[in-house]
Amino acid sequence: MSVKICIIGAAGRMGKNIAAAVFNNDNAEAAGAVDRKGSDALGQNLYEMAGCGKGGPVITDDILKGAESADVIIDFTGAEPTYNNLPMYEKAGKPLVIGSTGFSAEQKKAIEKLSEKIPVILAPNMSLGVNVALELIEEAAGLLKGYDIELVETHHNKKKDAPSGTAMAMAEAAAKGAGLNLEENAVYARHGIIGERKPNEIGIQTLRGGDVAGDHTVFFFGNGERIEITHRAHSRQTFAQGAVTAAIWLAGKPKGLYNMKDVLGLKK
Ligand code: NAD
Repeated sequence: MSVKICIIGAAGRMGKNIAAAVFNNDNAEAAGAVDRKGSDALGQNLYEMAGCGKGGPVITDDILKGAESADVIIDFTGAEPTYNNLPMYEKAGKPLVIGSTGFSAEQKKAIEKLSEKIPVILAPNMSLGVNVALELIEEAAGLLKGYDIELVETHHNKKKDAPSGTAMAMAEAAAKGAGLNLEENAVYARHGIIGERKPNEIGIQTLRGGDVAGDHTVFFFGNGERIEITHRAHSRQTFAQGAVTAAIWLAGKPKGLYNMKDVLGLKK
């Protein structure tokens, strides 16, 4: 049986890739597509708009209508729109996969609250590779005691939030492995006479340019050597396929908050 999916943010870079991933997945079909009020995509057929095939549901700006016949909703709109859409998702009452990134602590709390009513996956990165990298980073940070941890991420010039959700997840993994509190030790910018690096600092730097889908490197600097753990996304299809895998996994699950480690079976 194929899982019926409603894509919110259908006309975006990720929305189009998710439409193609659904189109090419025998276990999924598009049952609804939503974009913001005033979007040029409204009234178009999803698969045609995404350039992956003929037909598909008509894109609407009405979430309840778009989600009406769906089993699962996938939202890749951005932190602010996702947060504003939460009351509609509660009304729709369908399992929800959230791929948007850049949520504030307060916005994350609201998502947690919603997961007391419906099943929700919140995953700043949907790729298998990144989720395996998170495991490796945590383990390396535990083994490389006293090494200086630094992280650099690069994304395309249209990305709105910084550092990326993936960078923050990697920094969290490194902090956890090293037994450090990320909030107390993260350093997001260096400029001027800043003095020597503090031993527990976790530096997180951001580059923006061109059409980079997403590169992340965590460095562990020691004396006379360093280890670098790098993930490079070649295209957005890796995230889109992950989002569809997550949606299929979430259909029929009990209410609660899940992540990609649950979906991919990476929980220890
Ligand atoms: P984008 O700007 O290309 O697309 C966003 C789409 O959402 C647009 O079509 C926009 O019109 C639509 N939208 C905005 N407000 C809306 C609303 N209220 N209701 C319905 N639709 C609305 O952005 P993008 O590059 O596709 O990225 C979207 C989000 O996904 C970002 O937060 C990004 O960081 C995140 N992302 C996550 C992953 C992951 O693996 N989890 C991967 C890539 C990107």
